[in-house]
Amino acid sequence: MRSTKNVLVYIEQSDNKIADVSLELICKATELARDTGGEVQAIAIGQGLAAELERPGHYGCDTLYYIEDERLGHFTSVPYAKLVAGQIEKLAPQIVLFGATTQGRDIAPRVASTLRCGLTADCTDLQIGSHKYKKKVYEKTLLQIRPAFGGNIVATIVSPESSPSMATVREGVMKMSPPDPDRKARIVKEECELGAQDFPTKVIDVVRTIKSVDLKSARIIVSAGMGAATPEGIALVKELAATIGAEVGASRPVVDSGLMPGDHQVGQTGTTVRPNLYIACGISGQIQHRAGMSESMRIIAINSDPDAPIFDIAHYGIVGDVLNVIPEMIKAYRTGGSGS
Ligand SMILES: Cc1cc2nc3c(=O)[nH]c(=O)nc-3n(C[C@H](O)[C@H](O)[C@H](O)COP(=O)(O)OP(=O)(O)OC[C@H]3O[C@@H](n4cnc5c(N)ncnc54)[C@H](O)[C@@H]3O)c2cc1C
Repeated sequence: MRSTKNVLVYIEQSDNKIADVSLELICKATELARDTGGEVQAIAIGQGLAAELERPGHYGCDTLYYIEDERLGHFTSVPYAKLVAGQIEKLAPQIVLFGATTQGRDIAPRVASTLRCGLTADCTDLQIGSHKYKKKVYEKTLLQIRPAFGGNIVATIVSPESSPSMATVREGVMKMSPPDPDRKARIVKEECELGAQDFPTKVIDVVRTIKSVDLKSARIIVSAGMGAATPEGIALVKELAATIGAEVGASRPVVDSGLMPGDHQVGQTGTTVRPNLYIACGISGQIQHRAGMSESMRIIAINSDPDAPIFDIAHYGIVGDVLNVIPEMIKAYRTGGSGS
């Protein structure tokens, strides 16, 4: 497939609201396009999305292609994947990015197999660089960086011989820059040239589960690890969170052991967070947990093991038992810092 230098982002929407992850990817795409020398493009599909269409432009999108049809109001895999694949064939971008969401994980592999191109899931970083293989040097290719082998190594994956290079990225992994309301994308309306056979599924009703916590936008998070995984420890973590106006997070084994719901999990397979303050209570700081919280502005770690890896990234470390330290913190906060 011929290729331009452009970077294309799939704009995910539900209920006519553009997903944050798509705007995060537009921000990343502007960096990548600067290095490839191309423009940032986006494709949005739906019905009645007009009020939202300006937003990708505010974050750096140059051209937005919008396919509208009353049959496309709700996401369904077959028509959406076919439209995205068709648009990619027409525009020939060098790079295509999807959110690693339920929608993105559904259509990205369908599109990749239709176009016979590489796809790397759950990237934690994307860069443009050169890659040498058997005397051949690929310049300005997409370096798709992600943990591999259970997080024990960080792999850089390239697919320079098939075009485009496609990647999915989880929500919150790429930083969203502040929007510039004066910046506008060119909006191009495209026809939906699909027949009835392209709509094998009909959405009758949409039932959503409401998240028990919104960790992504929390400014303070108090997180429980296995060192706080007793009913008393969890109760203290929740009490500290309530006292200082924080949300409650957790490490994966705490979630796996049923002590906290899955929405509270922070890390590689949980939520990526960037709060102003992250208090890690009895968390060892394994790479998979750090992947989701290491960019917090300030990190306080409480751990009974002075050699716990969490202390390598913590700004403030307290060596001690969570059952002793947390009550002291609560007392100090309630008494305005005069606790013992
Ligand atoms: C593919 C993959 C994906 C993963 N994704 C995630 C993810 O998204 N999020 C995640 O968190 N993990 C994830 N993990 C698991 C990860 O590897 C670690 O096992 C996990 O983060 C460890 O959780 P923890 O720190 O709570 O428990 P532990 O590693 O058991 O650490 C407990 C810590 O508590 C301390 N401690 C014990 N008692 C006390 C006490 N009384 N007071 C103070 N400190 C105490 C100990 O010194 C220790 O450092 C993933 C693993 C894999 C393979």
